[in-house]
Amino acid sequence: MRLRNITGSREVIAENEFVIHDPEKRRGQWKSVFGNDRPIRLEIGMGKGRFLMTLAVQHPEINYLGIEKYSSVLLRALQKMEEDPLPNLRFIRMDAEYITDVFAEEEIDRIYLNFSDPWPKDRHAKRRLPSRQFLERYDQILQKDGIIEFKTDNRGLFDFAVEEIAETKWKIDAVTYDLHHDEKMMEGNVMTEYEERFSSQGNPICKYVISR
Ligand code: SAM
Repeated sequence: MRLRNITGSREVIAENEFVIHDPEKRRGQWKSVFGNDRPIRLEIGMGKGRFLMTLAVQHPEINYLGIEKYSSVLLRALQKMEEDPLPNLRFIRMDAEYITDVFAEEEIDRIYLNFSDPWPKDRHAKRRLPSRQFLERYDQILQKDGIIEFKTDNRGLFDFAVEEIAETKWKIDAVTYDLHHDEKMMEGNVMTEYEERFSSQGNPICKYVISR
């Protein structure tokens, strides 16, 4: 994402009705944010939000939360929501590193990681969203039968993510190194902005689904 500093984006977000402000105050009470008992699913690093908006339309029986670190990126999703508001989708501007301050044990039903930043330097490995450090955080907030779905075209990041599993209590339920030619795993696939871009350049997309 290049647009890191659109002037005034922080101010727009601070007043926006689709953004949950002070999310740590909702810890343990997220069902009341949506006003129902439906499952809550997260995309961490949602970017401009196309993936979640598509899911939210397809599945009104599920609640979705998008987490994004940068205001200027989140602003793009808000502009789309203004045009077509969805009652089962809300956003949080935060660094996912603090996710356990925002969600209580078993509060989340599923986590999506799509085209996460690769952080190529070894010393930054713990910042990668599928790292063992993040998997430990996800373990704290996901329901016992909850799953994590991860997609990327970055083979180095994907190999790292698969290797990290062995260091954790997670296990791989399904994996592909060429999602778009895997009939079974493509069932119901929702394209993200990055997936559209990189698959149209011919890059194979890797995906895993993991559970405990
Ligand atoms: N998921 C989208 C897609 O597939 O089109 C966007 C992918 S983009 C490469 C990664 C996004 O994750 C960026 O918008 C970035 O700001 C966000 N991000 C990276 N690290 C994050 C973190 N620790 N917490 C929240 N968002 C993060």
